[in-house]
Amino acid sequence: MTTAVRCYIGLGSNLDNPLQHVEQAFSELAELVNCRLVKASPIYRSAPVGPQDQPDFVNAVAEIETTLEAHALLDQLQGLEQKHQRVRERHWGPRTLDLDLLLYGNSQINTERLCVPHAFMHERSFVLYPLADIAPDLIMPNDVTLSSLLVACPMGSLTKI
Ligand code: ATP
Ligand code: MG
Ligand code: MG
Repeated sequence: MTTAVRCYIGLGSNLDNPLQHVEQAFSELAELVNCRLVKASPIYRSAPVGPQDQPDFVNAVAEIETTLEAHALLDQLQGLEQKHQRVRERHWGPRTLDLDLLLYGNSQINTERLCVPHAFMHERSFVLYPLADIAPDLIMPNDVTLSSLLVACPMGSLTKI
């Protein structure tokens, strides 16, 4: 039997009723093959990263347990993005649903398709604060504590909805 790996997924949306996309995505994560939704964070609103001429984002983090290998999990997440009719137009542009694999157990992964821990999570308040709501004592690869990252990352425009 394969052991389940605890993972964290970052959810984001800023198009076509973002709150609904994020809530729907939580339900879809709960239904994913070989995955179990363990916790859903509170939902936040944040100013966009990158281009500023786009609506605010709705963000949250999910904790799941899965027996899927990391790239297979990414396939599933990208499948859900497709289901929400995500269209990639410009880098960091508006989207109906973004599902980023933040952490996959204690693994460090660097392939063409996948970088885990997520490359920018340590500097993104809209990732770190919802993550801390559901996993306050989290320790990441290389013994980096979530609390040490929070100290260095002000909340900025981030607010709980
Ligand atoms: P950012 O990664 O800065 O949050 P983004 O989420 O807008 O930007 P996407 O367009 O969703 O970027 O993804 C671009 C590519 O990033 C994907 O095709 C995927 O292969 C790759 N990628 C690398 N690491 C990850 C990860 N940890 N989670 C999700 N996608 C990843
Ligand atoms: Mg992203
Ligand atoms: Mg993404």
